[in-house]
Amino acid sequence: MSLTITLLGTGGAQQVPVFGCDCAACQRAHLHVQYRRLPCSGSVNFNGAVTLLDAGLHDLAERWPYGSFQQFLLTHYHMDHVQGLFPLRWGVGSQIAVYGPPDEQGCDDLFKHPGLLDFSHTLTPFVTFDLQGLQVTPLPLNHSKLTFGYLLASAHSSIAWLSDTAGLPSDTLQFLLKNPPQVVVIDCSHEPRDKPPRNHSDLNTVIALKAEMGSPRIILTHISHQFDVWMMENALPNGIEAGFDGMVIELEG
Ligand SMILES: [Zn+2]
Ligand SMILES: [Zn+2]
Ligand SMILES: [Zn+2]
Repeated sequence: MSLTITLLGTGGAQQVPVFGCDCAACQRAHLHVQYRRLPCSGSVNFNGAVTLLDAGLHDLAERWPYGSFQQFLLTHYHMDHVQGLFPLRWGVGSQIAVYGPPDEQGCDDLFKHPGLLDFSHTLTPFVTFDLQGLQVTPLPLNHSKLTFGYLLASAHSSIAWLSDTAGLPSDTLQFLLKNPPQVVVIDCSHEPRDKPPRNHSDLNTVIALKAEMGSPRIILTHISHQFDVWMMENALPNGIEAGFDGMVIELEG
């Protein structure tokens, strides 16, 4: 058995290429599809079940036909993480569970008109729950809206999904120090900055976290076009790699 996480999107709300932009990274992404970055999201395969981590892809319904996945696990209700739910909710069939933070606002009219989506599965920080045998622990993050990252653990492996966030709150960091994951996927929207940004991490923040956590493998996501330009000219430190759309992380289940 294995625990497999696929990065479906590794960009932010702007995506790469950015509409109207002709920077080096956006030009490259226009020419070569492998450099494009769709909204930050992923899929988790474990024990025969599929969980969709966030729902920012515009063509969610085409990629994941009804019945091809078991549930959604949402980090937060910003548009770039939930916009794919809007058309899909009007589908027919039995309800689909949506797990996420207890955000009373949600996004636009999703809660008022949920269609076949069942938003009642609100989560509590640090309280582990089970998804078809996968142990999932919500971890509060630093963002402009109530946001949870997740530790996803099987009997033999674990991976932390930490987006969107500017660094980590101390209780989340303490939890991860006690339960160190083999792989960390983290919001790194920005190239190194002198002053850390407020709602997303820059590379300096992630480097400092790596030193503190001792994580062997860190994968960056929610990457902006400016950070892509920076990476075209600079190398990342050892143990830190840029995620890309379609990247597959396979761990022992
Ligand atoms: Zn985002
Ligand atoms: Zn650009
Ligand atoms: Zn966000």
